[in-house]
Amino acid sequence: MAREVVTDVVCPFCGSLCDDGEIVLEDGKIVETRNLCTIGTTKFLSSQNGHRITKPMIREKGQLKETTFDKAVKKAAEILVNAERPLLYGWASTECDAHRVGIELAEELNAVIDDTASVCHGPSTIAKQEVGLPSCTLGQVKNRADVIIYWGCNPAHAHPRHMSRYTTFIRGFFREQGKQDRTLIVVDVRNTDTAKLADHFLQVKPGYDYEVLNALRAVIKGQPIRGEDVGGVPVSKIKEVAEVMMNAGFGVIFFGLGLTMSRGKHRNVENAIKLTIDLNEYAKFVIMAMRGHYNVAGFSIVTGWQTGYPFGIDFQRGFPYYNPGETTSNEILQREEADAVLVIASDPVSHFPASSISYMAKLPVIVIEPHVTPTTEIATVVLPPAIAGVEEEGTAYRMDHVPIRLRKVVDPPEGCLPDRKILEAILSEVRKLKSKT
Ligand code: SF4
Repeated sequence: MAREVVTDVVCPFCGSLCDDGEIVLEDGKIVETRNLCTIGTTKFLSSQNGHRITKPMIREKGQLKETTFDKAVKKAAEILVNAERPLLYGWASTECDAHRVGIELAEELNAVIDDTASVCHGPSTIAKQEVGLPSCTLGQVKNRADVIIYWGCNPAHAHPRHMSRYTTFIRGFFREQGKQDRTLIVVDVRNTDTAKLADHFLQVKPGYDYEVLNALRAVIKGQPIRGEDVGGVPVSKIKEVAEVMMNAGFGVIFFGLGLTMSRGKHRNVENAIKLTIDLNEYAKFVIMAMRGHYNVAGFSIVTGWQTGYPFGIDFQRGFPYYNPGETTSNEILQREEADAVLVIASDPVSHFPASSISYMAKLPVIVIEPHVTPTTEIATVVLPPAIAGVEEEGTAYRMDHVPIRLRKVVDPPEGCLPDRKILEAILSEVRKLKSKT
C-alpha cells in the first residue's frame, strides 16, 4: 500500500485559510488529516464520499439524468443566452481564476454577478466605502495583539482554529506567554462557547449593538451616559471594558454576522470602525471582518480590479453598475426580475429567504457544484467540478486579504474539470451561440 503525506496544505473551508495542514494518502486516497479542525477535515474527507457528484446532469421530465460534459455545457449556454436578465451567484468557495472567467461571462451576457457577501459581509464593504478600514494582517495580530475582541461572531464553532492559530492562545513575538499576555473580550447576544472563554463578556440585547458601540465611543470621548445600562449591558461594565481597550498596546476587533446582519447592518459596522478610529487616540487599534467562506474576500478583490465594485455588479447597461439593495441577488429574485440563474460554489437554497427560493425554483438553474445540495435539487443542469484546494490549485484571499496559493492534493474524479475550465467552456459556447444570432 503506497502511503504518502502531503504537507503545507491550505484548508479551503473558512476565511482563516490555515496553511499548515497535512493530508495522509493511501493509494492516492485521502485517509487522514493532521492539524486541521473537524470542519476542515470533513471538507477533505467528504471529497470522496457518496454525496459527491461525478457526472454532469440535465433535468428531463422532472428527473436529473446523467449526460456528457459537452451536452451539459451546451444546455447551460442556451439557457444563459436565451435569458434577458441572468444572475450569476455564489463564488465564495472557489479560486480567483474562476472569478476572473465568471466576470467575463457576466459581461458577455449583460448579466448580474453577485457573491455570498450580499447575504453576509456586504454591509461591511459598504461601511468600509463610507469610512475606510484601519486593519492589519493576522500575522500582526498573532505577534502583537494584547486585547482581542470578538463582536457578533463565534469562532469556537465557525472558525475553530482562529483563536489558537492567530489571536488568543498562540504565543507571538511580543506576546510570548500566549493567552496570559492577552485579554479576550466577547460581545454577543448569546453566551456562546467563545464567550465562555472570555475575560470580559458583554451580553447585548438583540438589535442593540449600535447603542453599545455608541456608549463605548461616548466613554472613550469622556462623555456622560445616562441610565443604568445600554442595550442590556450595565454602564459600569461598558466603562470597565472601555478602560481595557484604551490601555491596549495593540487591540483588534473581529466582527461577524451578529453585527452585519442585525438591526443597523452597515451602520453597525461603520460605528465599529469609528470606535476603532477613536481608540487610536489612546492605543494602536485595528478591525477585521470574520469572513466565512474561504475565498469570499477574493471575489471582491478580483471584481474590484476588473469592475471597480465589490459585489452585486450589474452589466445590463453594457458597463458595470453597482447599487446594493437593487443589484443584489435577493432583491433581483424577490422582484421576480431574473429569468435564469447560474450558481457556483455556494448553496443559496439552504440560505436564501423562502420568497427568493420559491421564485428561483421556477427558473432554469445551472449549478456548478461537486456535492448533492438543496440547490442541486432544483437544478436544470448540474456540472460537477474538481474541488479547488483539494483537487485543483488556485489562489484564495484570507480574511486579512493576504493571498494564499491553494495546493492540489489528489486527482479529481475522471472528467471533473476545475471551475474556471467549466466556465471557459460555457463562455466559449455562449460566444458561439451569440455569433449565430
Ligand atoms: S479553522 Fe477554518 S481554515 Fe482552519 S482548518 Fe478549520 S475550517 Fe479549515
